Amino acid sequence: MTCPFLEYRDADGEMRFDTGRAYCTAASRFVQPMRADVCNDRYDLDHSRHCEIFLAHEEPAP
Ligand code: SF4
Repeated sequence: MTCPFLEYRDADGEMRFDTGRAYCTAASRFVQPMRADVCNDRYDLDHSRHCEIFLAHEEPAP
């Protein structure tokens, strides 16, 4: 599972990228490659436990 705030964008304004780069819609910024492992729940990482940005933006359970 991946973080619901994660997007891949192939441009930043006028700048175009060869491949999509991880972008956090919660923080409104591109994600560093090491953090993208958290965003994508790679290895033993889990965005819902290991990302302070996700935890700060998480909707409270109804
Ligand atoms: S930085 Fe955190 S909140 Fe943003 S996409 Fe990655 S896991 Fe989600």
